[in-house]
Order: sequence, then C-alpha cells, then structure tokens
Amino acid sequence: MQRLFSVAGRRRLDQIVQPGVLCVFDFDGTLSPIVPLPDDAHLPDEVFQRLLSLSQLAPVGVLTGRSLEDIRSRLGFEPQYLVGNHGLQGLPDWEQQSAGYIATCRAWVQQLQPLLPDDPGVFIEDKQYSLSLHFRTARDPVRAEAQLRAVLATLDPPARVMDGKFLFNVLPEGASDKGRALERLIEISGCSTALYIGDDITDEDAFRIGHPGLLSVRIEPDDQSAAEFYLPRRQDIVHLLDHLIERLCADTVGGVGDMRRRDGA
Ligand SMILES: [Mg+2]
Repeated sequence: MQRLFSVAGRRRLDQIVQPGVLCVFDFDGTLSPIVPLPDDAHLPDEVFQRLLSLSQLAPVGVLTGRSLEDIRSRLGFEPQYLVGNHGLQGLPDWEQQSAGYIATCRAWVQQLQPLLPDDPGVFIEDKQYSLSLHFRTARDPVRAEAQLRAVLATLDPPARVMDGKFLFNVLPEGASDKGRALERLIEISGCSTALYIGDDITDEDAFRIGHPGLLSVRIEPDDQSAAEFYLPRRQDIVHLLDHLIERLCADTVGGVGDMRRRDGA
C-alpha cells in the first residue's frame, strides 16, 4: 500500500482522473471526522465547498452506511448519486429490492433490546434496512464489544455482521454491500474510470471489486486493506479534492480551447 501522493500514486491519478471520472466517497471518517455520537457528525465547510465545486466538474457519489434521510440532512447538497445503508438504499429499484429487510430489522431490534447491557453508551441505530450497534462511549468498550458480539450471534434470522470503528454493522444476509453498490454505480453512470475513497471495513468490499478503471484509496494506511493507495490522515481529503478540481478544471479549459480551435479552423 502506497501513499496516494507518491510517484506511483500520481501516475495512477493521471490515468484515472479524466473528464467524466466518477468520484465516490464514504462519509464518516472520510468526508467527515469521526465523532463520539453519530448524530453529531457533520461535513466540514472546507470539504463541503470543494465537493460542490467537484460536482460541477464530474459525477460525484456518496456511498454510506447511514440511511438516505440521515445523510441528506448532513450533506447540504444533492450529489449525482446518493446511496445509503451500505447499498440498500438509493440505487435503481432499491425500494422493491430492500422492502423485505424492514421486517427483518424490526425483528432484530425486538430481539436485541432486552439483551443489551444497561449502559447508555451502548445503543442501536435503527436505519430501517440495516442496524448499527454502537459502543464507542460504553463504560467498558472492550467488554461491551464482546457482549454484543455474543448477542449478535443469536439473531434470528442470522445477520451479516461487519465490524466498524466502535460499532457493529448488522445487515440482512445476502443483502447488497458497498462493493456491489459501487459496481452498480459505475455501470449506471457509464463512466470508464472511477475513484473510491473510504476508511473502514465496510469499504473493503468496494476496494476489492477489481474494476480496471477504479482507483481505490483508504484513509490512513492499513496493511490488511485491499485499497491500492492511502491518504495519511482524513484531513488530507481536502488535498485530494483540490487536486481533482484543479486537474478537471484544466481538462475542461483545455477542452474548450480545443473546441475553439476546431471552430476557428
Ligand atoms: Mg467510514
């Protein structure tokens, strides 16, 4: 795994960042800082302004574990593609495909509630089509993690449980994931190249899709990650957005110049 702004990374950026490149971002820990309570997450203004500029130059997507309603209220603008619940909301026909998951999640909440430790720092985020179980602010996060892992193993029907940062993502088995969602976004956008930037275990499904036109970037290095490159810190997303905007602006100006030359010929 190499730094994105290394010689090899810049070469790869040159190949991928071209007019029409699809730019897809995870939200928490990628565009926004991780915060103790999920409700407090916000998009920093420096990131918001740049995303807005980028969306004028290239198709932008946000692919998050949050529900669509939740993520909409935090972005402050509507990207070209907005996909929630790890891919269960926002893709074409999602309502038909995900309808059955509502009852499953409702049943899980009923099973989980009486089994959770008596600790306000341990709570369920019910996202209707999937759940998140948070324990970042638990009195004893290590103990809470072990307790929750044991409880999750008893769910009926069984769930796909993915570790997050002081949380468990709980999804219906066989449901879509960020990898399948990203493949679908690339397909429906018609883009030949794409970037995906994420920071967590659920993003690994997207890093792994193996599309030749995809550049995958992880926030913070991790030797176990399938991402090709990394940004050392989340704040470096600003540097990447500046690079994309600058590069795509140059291409746009070049394109207009070419047209003018053709018109004048
Ligand atoms: Mg994240």
